[in-house]
Amino acid sequence: MTVVIKIGTSNITYATGHLNIRHVERLVKVISDLKNAGVRVVLVSSGAIAMGVGKLGLSRRPEDMPGKQAAAAVGQCELMYTYDKLFSEYNHTVAQVLLTGSDVENDERRVNFQNTVSRLLEMGALPIINENDTVSTDEIAVGDNDSLGAIVACAVGADLLVLLSDIDGLYTADPHADPEARLIPVVEAVTPQIEALAGGKGSSLAVGGMGTKLKAAKMAVAASIDMVIANGDRPENLYDIVDGKPVGTRFLGEGRSK
Ligand code: GLU
Repeated sequence: MTVVIKIGTSNITYATGHLNIRHVERLVKVISDLKNAGVRVVLVSSGAIAMGVGKLGLSRRPEDMPGKQAAAAVGQCELMYTYDKLFSEYNHTVAQVLLTGSDVENDERRVNFQNTVSRLLEMGALPIINENDTVSTDEIAVGDNDSLGAIVACAVGADLLVLLSDIDGLYTADPHADPEARLIPVVEAVTPQIEALAGGKGSSLAVGGMGTKLKAAKMAVAASIDMVIANGDRPENLYDIVDGKPVGTRFLGEGRSK
């Protein structure tokens, strides 16, 4: 089984931009254990810009493009240093792969990327993918790692895409505003009604980047890949998610048994 796991910035850093050691250590332990059990794992990890902000001691995230790119250049090193160090403790070898939107749109470069990642998986390494933020401008960027996760899942022919976030899943309404809001455990089709739950521009429902997550879900399910949105606060949930047990919100890949 091949699983692509997207880790959000909030899963591994504090608002200060410094590493959330408790979270990242638990995540690395569970992912290492899944690999030991024979699951082929690809990570898509955010956090480069945030970790650059922390490492450079900036008071806040830069707003200008060169500022973000500079922070990402510093933070990406720190991110990979952290993963390399922690995964090494469990004898796993990490590999950094950085992509831009134009890499995945270009047939030749996409095939190169697919070949490299499948060779890394054959070798038992753990590919850790992020957008190449230091060169990715608005014009050529994928733009968000939920979409990048779906692109990677399709490219590697994954069975499952897991988007770890700071929310438990997709709700019937904004859970921060509506006490009646219920978590939706299974989505069989990404209908316009489901898409409306992400909220439009300026809607109070547009929390936690649900829009990009539903965009990713559409891509994944169309390629017959199940996608789960779950809270990264409890990395142990990954065991149940991989076993197909109900955690967060599962979007059923087209043609998969219900
Ligand atoms: N590539 C960005 C970073 O590493 C994150 C983008 C995203 O989380 O969607 O900081």
